[in-house]
This record gives sequence, C-alpha cells and structure tokens, in this order.
Amino acid sequence: MESKMTEAKQKKKDLFYETKHATALTSEEEQKKSNAFSADYIQFLNASKTEREATKNVVSQLRDARFVKFYPNMSLKAGDKIYVNNRGKAVIAAVIGTAPLIEGTRICAAHIDSPRLDLKQNPLYEDHELALLKTHYYGGIKKYQWTAIPLSLHGVVMKTDGSTIEVCIGEDPKDPIFCVTDLLPHLAPQQMKRPAGEIIRGEELNILVGSMPFNQDEESEQVKLNILHILHEKYGICEADFLSAELEAVPAFSARELGFDRSMIASYGHDDRVCAYPALRAVLDCDAPVHTAIVVLTDKEETGSDGNTGLCSSYLSYFLEDLADCLGVKGRHVMHASQCLSADVNAAFDPTFPDVMEQKNCAYLNHGVCVTKFTGARGKSGTSDASAEFVGKIHNLLCNGNVVWQTGELGKVDAGGGGTVAAYIANLDIDTIDVGVPVLSMHAPLEVVSKLDVYHTYKAFCIFMKS
Ligand code: MN
Ligand code: MN
Repeated sequence: MESKMTEAKQKKKDLFYETKHATALTSEEEQKKSNAFSADYIQFLNASKTEREATKNVVSQLRDARFVKFYPNMSLKAGDKIYVNNRGKAVIAAVIGTAPLIEGTRICAAHIDSPRLDLKQNPLYEDHELALLKTHYYGGIKKYQWTAIPLSLHGVVMKTDGSTIEVCIGEDPKDPIFCVTDLLPHLAPQQMKRPAGEIIRGEELNILVGSMPFNQDEESEQVKLNILHILHEKYGICEADFLSAELEAVPAFSARELGFDRSMIASYGHDDRVCAYPALRAVLDCDAPVHTAIVVLTDKEETGSDGNTGLCSSYLSYFLEDLADCLGVKGRHVMHASQCLSADVNAAFDPTFPDVMEQKNCAYLNHGVCVTKFTGARGKSGTSDASAEFVGKIHNLLCNGNVVWQTGELGKVDAGGGGTVAAYIANLDIDTIDVGVPVLSMHAPLEVVSKLDVYHTYKAFCIFMKS
C-alpha cells in the first residue's frame, strides 16, 4: 500500500530545517569527482606537512597555472593571475575580475600551519648515553598524544655563511624516524595520577635521536658528538647552526583513506590544509571571475595569528591596497565592498563525546561544508559574528549552487571555544564568515574528515569566487 503524505507530514517537510547525509544530495557523477579530488588532496597533504612546504608546493602549482609574481604598480587587466609569496610561509593568489575593483573582491582565507613540536634553539643534549632534542610545542595540543608515535623533522637551518639547508627526514620509507618516549604502564601509577594536561609535561616532550658513541675514546658526550658528526657530514652544520634554525617535528605517517567504505581521510594537519587545498584548487579553476578572486594561505593561525606571516599583521591589507593602487582605486573602498570566507575547520560531532556538543547546532561528518556564523568563547568573545545579511547571501549562494552545507558551532555554550582568522579579516572592514570542513580529533596527530565534506567545501569556494 502506498504510504500517504499526511497534511502534517507535508507541512513539516515544507517548514522544518534539517540536514541530510551528503550521499543523498550528491549525484553518482559527483561522488566520483569527490573521490578523485580526495586522491589529489592526499598527495598534497603528504608533500606539505609544514607551512614552508605548503607554500613551496602552492607557489609551484600557481606558477604552472601561469600566475605571475605581483609587484606594486604593475599593470593589470581582467583575467590576469598574480601571487605574492610572503617569506616562504604564506601565499596570496588572485585572479583579476571583470567588474571594477571598487565593487570588491571575493577572498578565501585558510591557514597552512598546524600544531606540532618545534625544536628549541639549543636543542641537542645527551642524557645517560641517549641523544635527545628539546622542543617547545606549537599550537594547542594534548601533549600526551605526541609520545610514542613516529615523528619526522622538517625545516630550515640558516648557516652563519648565509647558506640555507633544507631538512626533511623521516618521510621517505628508507629514512630513520624519531619519537618522544613515554613511560611503561608498569611504572606509571604516579604519572597516571597527574592531571591529563600534565601526563606529559612540556619539558618532557624530548625527541630521541641517537644512542651510539662517536668512538671508544675516554670522552664525555660521545653520543651527542656522534649525532653532530653525522649532521656535519650530511649537512655541514655545527651545533651553533641550530640557533638560527626552524625545525619542526610532525607525525611521520602518511594521509590514508579511513574506514571499510573508504569514505574518510585520516591525516596529520587537516586543520587547515583541508580548507587551504580546496581554496587553492578553486582559484586555479577560476578563469574569468566577475569580482577579483583572492586566496590567502596564511601562517601562524595556530599561535594566534601574530607575526609578519600571520593575519594579525598587515600583509593582506597591504596587498589589497597595492592592488587597488594598480587599478586606480582606494584600498579601503575595495575592502569595504569585499567578502571573505574564513576557510577553517570546525569540530564535528563525535558520538563518543556527545556532551560537549549541542546537537541542534553542531556540525556532523558527511553533512557537507560547515558555515559558522560565530566562533569565540564565553559570550562570543573574540568572534566577528557575521551579519544576518552576509549569512543570507552565503545561504542563497550555497543553495543555488547545490552545495551540501550545514551550520556549526565550536561546542556548546561555555564548553570551551576558540577562534579563527575571521575576526582579523572582518576588522579590515570586510564582510567575513567562517566556512570549512568538520573534523574529528582536531589538533590530534591523526585528524579525520569526510571525503564528501571536502568536495562540497571545494564546490562552495568555487561558487563563492565566481559570485
Ligand atoms: Mn584551523
Ligand atoms: Mn586549529
């Protein structure tokens, strides 16, 4: 017997708001595209574990797509493609629109730094015939998650002779790896009584890097000496060169498909490459936008956005002002008319930890790209809180573009909270809203996203840039 749509059921269908699993709203053709997109994204993840590596790979893809280096007063016309490399750690890319610049731009801003362990400036020491490296963690981490996992070392060493050594050890299967050791459970009863934030303390995040003496001479610190001997042979560096180095320890494992159904991606550093990569792809695919399309891939978000490669600095506004100068308008007028998606992740509902979420307003895996009106904590502190008018514009855009999307918030009221770069861009007098991928285990060495959410995020960015 045919089930009859009652009047109430019909009314509910018309009037209620509910989100659906993305498969119900994504054609088979698009699901194939989503899988292909994920494969490209996985490659990008594995090649771009630090902000420097991401910048390098992004710039190389931009150059392949005929983006040229921007300089002040350059002559620009619709369709021109330009980029700025900010100190090898952040990138801006833009495609000049057909509309006058005074009508504003469409900006997608994501970050390419992720939580990790940075080496201290004088890191190497020997303790009881083991060589170790002192670290200071970068960004918000649960310290205990960083012990007993394979780590690789990435970064640069600036030598006193002015040359730069690039380091990447632990990614090639033939490379050695490193790790932070943890206490065996047999001897951990006292450790397990520490509060969770101190199960591993900051000064206990020491990375094991060697155990062999240089030779059999009666000499102290032979193991440390042997490590320096190896580093000197391979890179020509001495201990003092660490003082001018930026070396970052990150998980040494690769991004992988997750689940029997391969519907998810597990990786280090989804936050925020999972928005940076779709934003990059969107600008690469953007040929003749109406409004000038801009992608900003920034550094330092995880430490609060301060510093000249972070978005609390003026590098984005300087770029917009220089761009305005090139086209004979005022930068502040361009900013006032511009719109920005602060492309960053949000927390996905985790059925194992339901208590921190308010289930009517949080984001769910596979329910599409997440639009977050406000972030912040304790009474919306630290958020720019997008206006209803701007949320409405994005709402229409996503619905008309068949993008699967949902709303989200960073946990229930007073459960915690956090922020993104949205506020710093909104402070430039730009309409800004957070839009990005829901993530499980955010900031852990292994984070999880859904392939379909990533794909719909890419679709959202494409449609926004063309609007
Ligand atoms: Mn983020
Ligand atoms: Mn983060």
